[in-house]
Amino acid sequence: MMEEWIIDKITEKGKFSKDDVANIIKQRKSQFPDLTEDAILRMLATENGIIPIKRDYKIKEINQRINHVNISAKIKRKFPPRTVTVKGRAAKVMNFVIEDETGEMQVITWNENYIDRIMNSKDGDNISMANAYSKENSFNGIIELNLGSGSALSINSNEEHKNVKIREKYKKIGEVGDGETSDINGFITRLFSNDIYLIRCNICKKKVDVECDIHKDKALSKTLKIRGILDDGIYSSSITFFDKQAESLLKISRKQDIKEKIEDISFGLYQVTVSARMNKFNDNYSLTARKIETVEYSL
Ligand SMILES: [Zn+2]
Repeated sequence: MMEEWIIDKITEKGKFSKDDVANIIKQRKSQFPDLTEDAILRMLATENGIIPIKRDYKIKEINQRINHVNISAKIKRKFPPRTVTVKGRAAKVMNFVIEDETGEMQVITWNENYIDRIMNSKDGDNISMANAYSKENSFNGIIELNLGSGSALSINSNEEHKNVKIREKYKKIGEVGDGETSDINGFITRLFSNDIYLIRCNICKKKVDVECDIHKDKALSKTLKIRGILDDGIYSSSITFFDKQAESLLKISRKQDIKEKIEDISFGLYQVTVSARMNKFNDNYSLTARKIETVEYSL
């Protein structure tokens, strides 16, 4: 299932009509039969400078199956957790209702940690969820939000403190000075799959295309060099991962081969913390990664 708002964002840029988008997706689907339409749409979005993660869903927009939902709302009502038997095992599940200015909706979670935290909240508390997903309840057909193990949850009476802490630790891309190295928290929203190796002649130390003019292929070394886009929610920058950093980057995807890993990471679904050095020229940001770690989704 594709998310309509991503298509709208692409068409708003003026380059493609809705029909164009549909045609491109069809074309790529025949080229890459293993990719879902949703994945292809996300790819097309990042190619057009759109981050395919919506950070601010409203309840009324969640009217279909959506794989990645970030939303802030209020807790309206909680139902006591129940114990049910799933495949012969006892499991705890709970439902609660959230509301915002556009409506209300059921949320379901099987995660015991989340259940405890929600039970300890008060009705009317603010709740923010990241990477939840929506799907139809199989009994009544109503769309519900699901909080799974890959989701993040924040119930806030102290949201302000939390934001201050995060702000102290991480800089936004636009705040990092030229030549400065800083920790940045964001999403990898695109990786470029062409030209991912840096080939050098180890005798003259020159960068070469295929082989050295003088020393031919006698002492060539081949290391990874992967370029991509890092988005921190406000700014985005090109970022380059060399050698060991490129290897750490690829490790964040569980896919097998490099090409699949690069495609997987390109969909904008991995939140990372990178330590990177900024090079600014004119108004362009360019980062070189020094260290990269995946982080649990956080708000
Ligand atoms: Zn050489």
